Amino acid sequence: MYDITVIGGGIVGLATALKIKEQSPHLKVLIIEKEHEVAMHQTGHNSGVIHSGLYYKPGSLKAINCIKGYKMLIDFAEKEGIPYDLCGKIVVATRPEQVSILDGLYERGKQNGLTGFKMLDAAGLREYEPHVQGIKGFFVPQTGIINYKVVCEKYAEKFQKLGGQINMGQRVIEIRQSDNLSMVITAQNYFETKLVINCAGLYSDKVAQFTQQTPIDLRIIPFRGEYFEIKPEKQYLVKNLIYPVPDPNFPFLGVHFTRMIGGGVEAGPNAVLAFRREGYKKLDIHARELWKTLTWPGFQKVAAKYWRTGLGEMYRSFSKAAFTKALQELIPEIQESDLIPGGAGVRAQACDRSGGLLDDFSIIERPNAINVCNAPSPAATSSLSIGQTVAELALKRF
Ligand SMILES: Cc1cc2nc3c(=O)[nH]c(=O)nc-3n(C[C@H](O)[C@H](O)[C@H](O)COP(=O)(O)OP(=O)(O)OC[C@H]3O[C@@H](n4cnc5c(N)ncnc54)[C@H](O)[C@@H]3O)c2cc1C
Repeated sequence: MYDITVIGGGIVGLATALKIKEQSPHLKVLIIEKEHEVAMHQTGHNSGVIHSGLYYKPGSLKAINCIKGYKMLIDFAEKEGIPYDLCGKIVVATRPEQVSILDGLYERGKQNGLTGFKMLDAAGLREYEPHVQGIKGFFVPQTGIINYKVVCEKYAEKFQKLGGQINMGQRVIEIRQSDNLSMVITAQNYFETKLVINCAGLYSDKVAQFTQQTPIDLRIIPFRGEYFEIKPEKQYLVKNLIYPVPDPNFPFLGVHFTRMIGGGVEAGPNAVLAFRREGYKKLDIHARELWKTLTWPGFQKVAAKYWRTGLGEMYRSFSKAAFTKALQELIPEIQESDLIPGGAGVRAQACDRSGGLLDDFSIIERPNAINVCNAPSPAATSSLSIGQTVAELALKRF
């Protein structure tokens, strides 16, 4: 019998469980994870960027938790000796029509409390990144890099030291609920618990459905992000982090260059519809999951609106030349032969029935459950703050 069972050993589940144990060490807390290691999905396949809070609507959960989580993450990394580097990043407008969006972003960053920004002209940009071509841009000093898998391993270690339990290799397939008790059922076992916290990422809609009788009103749409690595002899083209101006209609930041904390430089990720939720390869298909995506009314509306962008992303996914061309907008010197195929990650993006890709984090409370149903980027940066928020909601019930 557990007080709280957290489903999902990604960064959000681990941070939540850790925050609960830190505040209420007497509670019996269990994490159930279907893989044999923590951080095997979104968290272990991300860009490793510590986001500053630049992009998010002031007052949104993303803005609040990113800014708070940023400080908490850095304090944590500092205290636990986890390597990180606040190297800063530049955001670059390459076309005149991007300038007003860039200026808007600059203002938004200021509204979110960021300081030390520097607006840059073409020459100024090249002082930060000598190989970049842009007409205007700015430097954000707060942005950094870290390895989130290492962060997760430390969250897990600290949670266990506080008496928390992690059960790996157990996929939750059903939750049975009575008045004030839930039975969390996995393929091998079952666990009785007073409260379920769903942090299942790419399957958070499915797990949320286990916690209620009526159909839930959102679906996770998986968007794969593919990376290339820059070959070692060309890594001098990128000093730190170089981002384009994002398309304001789309929830992703656009392909960028990222220096990794463990060495090397990555280019990506793009954003293509994945044909299975944990589909890391182009041709990974899960017929039932794909059918569920294609028949979701919200997805159909998104597809009708953004089909052109979607097809462009798909084309870039199959054509290295087209991917290179997108990167050449930022660094004209980069060549197709400089790019080595890298890994990929799949983003869990919640979509409501009416066709809205949910922009903000979403935490839905039920009588015996708390469902974290939309935790896309910058949820890794924000993890300790999201964890703290969910922990507070949970602890109110005890
Ligand atoms: C390509 C990409 C780049 C990104 N870049 C950044 C970045 O640079 N900075 C940043 O801050 N954020 C970034 N993000 C976002 C960030 O990685 C995610 O928001 C974050 O990792 C979400 O964590 P999570 O714990 O919710 O999900 P996950 O890490 O996906 O964890 C969910 C866990 O639940 C488990 N699970 C699912 N179903 C079940 C079940 N039925 N039973 C048991 N266990 C289950 C899964 O195995 C998984 O381990 C990026 C994401 C992607 C995909």
